[in-house]
Amino acid sequence: MSENSSSATTKISTYLTMIVLIVLALSMVALISSVNLFVGGNEVAAGYLLVIGLIAMALSLYVMVQSRKRIADMKIEAPKVMTTIECRKCGFKSVREFQRGDFVFKELDPCQKCNEKMLITAIFKEVREREKPFAF
Ligand SMILES: [Zn+2]
Repeated sequence: MSENSSSATTKISTYLTMIVLIVLALSMVALISSVNLFVGGNEVAAGYLLVIGLIAMALSLYVMVQSRKRIADMKIEAPKVMTTIECRKCGFKSVREFQRGDFVFKELDPCQKCNEKMLITAIFKEVREREKPFAF
């Protein structure tokens, strides 16, 4: 898995989540049937199913925690927040990184072209990757 291809990573993690959920469901089934077998007096088979169920569950929980951690790491390098500055008079437009204290319709330095005061018209996040949140 390459860290650069984020959309592929997202696809893989969605895929992984599905597999983890299926394994989790199967381990539940194994645990429930082990209880049934135990009640029915088949303790050896119940024991096997119990072990299988527990291992499967532990494994899927481990994978889930690991992949969530990875996604949390990815979130740390948050998208840049950008500020669009526009001159109302001549339409001169520039985009720069967000600075503390920026807000929409804030007046800034005079325009480079016509000396009219420039206005912040938009503040937005530069989205590099469309990553859907991992929903459970
Ligand atoms: Zn201007």
